[in-house]
Amino acid sequence: VVSITGLHKSFGDNHVLRGIDLEVAQGDVVCLIGPSGSGKSTLLRCVNLLEQPSAGTIRLLGAEVTDPDVDIDRVRTHVGMVFQQFNLFSHRNVLDNCTMAQRSVLRRSRKDAEATAMEMLERVGLAHRAQARPHELSGGQQQRVAIARALSMNPALMLFDEPTSALDPELVGDVLAVMRDLAEGGMTMIVVTHEMTFAREVGDHVVFMDGGVIVEQGDPHQVITNPAEERTQSFLSRVL
Ligand code: ATP
Ligand code: MG
Repeated sequence: VVSITGLHKSFGDNHVLRGIDLEVAQGDVVCLIGPSGSGKSTLLRCVNLLEQPSAGTIRLLGAEVTDPDVDIDRVRTHVGMVFQQFNLFSHRNVLDNCTMAQRSVLRRSRKDAEATAMEMLERVGLAHRAQARPHELSGGQQQRVAIARALSMNPALMLFDEPTSALDPELVGDVLAVMRDLAEGGMTMIVVTHEMTFAREVGDHVVFMDGGVIVEQGDPHQVITNPAEERTQSFLSRVL
């Protein structure tokens, strides 16, 4: 689904990604962990070209997105993205938030868009709040709406960038439960997270980044429970 080779990214003379190689297969849940500033968000943003790579190639859903001739907007319609900040439209209700892109980008009818949105809101446990405005919901509920909105586009890949970091601790669990459900349903996901329990239990593959390189990757047992690299051990001893 995703194949990254030799990816570099610099912002001016700040060389943030220094040669990343990463493969994500269909149905995989890849968890990206690492210290602040290690380049996790930059890597995630490069995947769907929200950042332009400085060097390297990225294949996404069969398209070479680093090729200037590729219609990146078309590829992006198949990629759902969920950020720390939910970015819902505050003046629109939950249902509208979940139908707008379906209608404008996928050209679905109102009826089809609403049916899909309700199905996805059902999945995140918020069908009963379809008429609410975002400010009437808790942060955790808003984040679940953001997930339902992304799912309403029927993505082939979901990217999550610290989806629970802005939430009060008691709201984190509901969002993680929704993500766990998605993973169990076979969704291909790349998740930047500080939730080590989630990474260990839900991740098929854990990638530890530091200083713009992948220091260590493998199954969660290998990387989180028995890390081989000193830098991974030292990071985990600080966060676990
Ligand atoms: P955190 O855990 O704090 O979110 P991160 O691993 O996601 O960290 P990035 O956000 O990818 O780290 O940032 C890596 C480096 O790239 C930092 O030095 C940051 O200042 C720099 N950087 C990120 N985005 C930009 C940008 N748009 N312009 C300039 N520099 C940037
Ligand atoms: Mg980040």
